[in-house]
Amino acid sequence: MNWLKPHRRSILRSLAALPGVGALMPATASAAAAARIGAVDRDVISELGVRTFINAAGTYTSLTASLMPREVWNAMTVASRKYAPLQDLHDAVGARIAELTKSEAALVSAGAASALAIGTAGVIAGTDREKIEQLPDTRGMKNEVIVQKSHRNGYDHAVRNAGIRMIEVETAEELESAIHSRTAMMFFLQSANDTGQIGYEEFAKLGKKHNIPTMIDAAADLPPVENFWKFTKAGFDLAIFSGGKGIKGPQSAGLLLGRKDLIEAGRQNSSPNSNSLGRISKVNKEELVGMMVAVEMFVNRDHAAVWKDWEDQCNRIAGYVKSVKGVTTEIKVPELANMVPHLHVNWDHATVGKTPKDVVKELREGNPSIEVRPGSTEELVVAVWMMQPGQDRIVGQRLGQVLKG
Ligand SMILES: *Cc1c(COP(=O)(O)O)cnc(C)c1O
Repeated sequence: MNWLKPHRRSILRSLAALPGVGALMPATASAAAAARIGAVDRDVISELGVRTFINAAGTYTSLTASLMPREVWNAMTVASRKYAPLQDLHDAVGARIAELTKSEAALVSAGAASALAIGTAGVIAGTDREKIEQLPDTRGMKNEVIVQKSHRNGYDHAVRNAGIRMIEVETAEELESAIHSRTAMMFFLQSANDTGQIGYEEFAKLGKKHNIPTMIDAAADLPPVENFWKFTKAGFDLAIFSGGKGIKGPQSAGLLLGRKDLIEAGRQNSSPNSNSLGRISKVNKEELVGMMVAVEMFVNRDHAAVWKDWEDQCNRIAGYVKSVKGVTTEIKVPELANMVPHLHVNWDHATVGKTPKDVVKELREGNPSIEVRPGSTEELVVAVWMMQPGQDRIVGQRLGQVLKG
């Protein structure tokens, strides 16, 4: 990606314009920054000259994904001013999130990826201290995880972190005959539900039938809010969600939901226990309280009103671009993952004279900078759910201008 940076000189100029800073105007940018330490509105990102943008792309980690609501960071700020016994806070936050998500138990992890790793470690090592300390060396433990071939994905590296081997199958018959004494777990990727031969409900049932723990990665599958309990109700022993995607919790948080004994085992395989696999993915009180507030807000919000707002935003953007010759738009909702209204913008490339890639680049390099992902080489997909109020109009206007040329 072409990350544009403002010129250093213009940053210094804008610092010099601040009251009280000009008089001290230091020779270097870092000295200027030092003069601003403590300013309530200190904006470190722009001080450093790093580009910010309107996020019309979606919940991409490399684009910093989502913005926490004020209520979330308020709770984090208040928590940041006091100490608390971390395990007690884990207990209390876990109990509250379990209640909200209708799960037996819940654990806040350092992202969904961390939940995949510590959840798997918990399944394999349980609460046995020696085994916990031995991981990721799984000698003497069950260490095979069965997965449908089409469900293999980059994030399952986190499952493999626990020292397991993935056993790939395609049919239910193959799955059942792959089960033996070293089978530790069965893993399912919800965003691949329509690609494999075994759907999520049958998969959970097969796990129950053979008494093998099942885990589902549903990181990007909220909303709908019902997914918080749909998978555990279907029989999955562990369900995983990202904290910083649709829930808009801390970007560095995730959720491991499910069976009480497995959540407890996951915790023991995790920070703050020093000699554990999960010690590399620490969660502190700020993420704990931030995640809890984000889940409260997500569960209790007016889902129909939020949905209508997303559609309205899509329609407003469509209003700006539809008048351009050769351009058509359509609102679509993905069936799996990021299941919210997206505006698909198509155009006749010859008439407009630009490819979606060209348009993405122009929007990125414009002012304000806007990030959009091309859906395919043929079209542009605008995600509205991570934008701030009012930004839909800016995106619509800019997109209209760029397409008009
Ligand atoms: C985003 C994602 C993850 C990782 O989530 P983090 O919270 O960023 O760790 C894992 N699995 C899937 C399917 C995802 O979409």
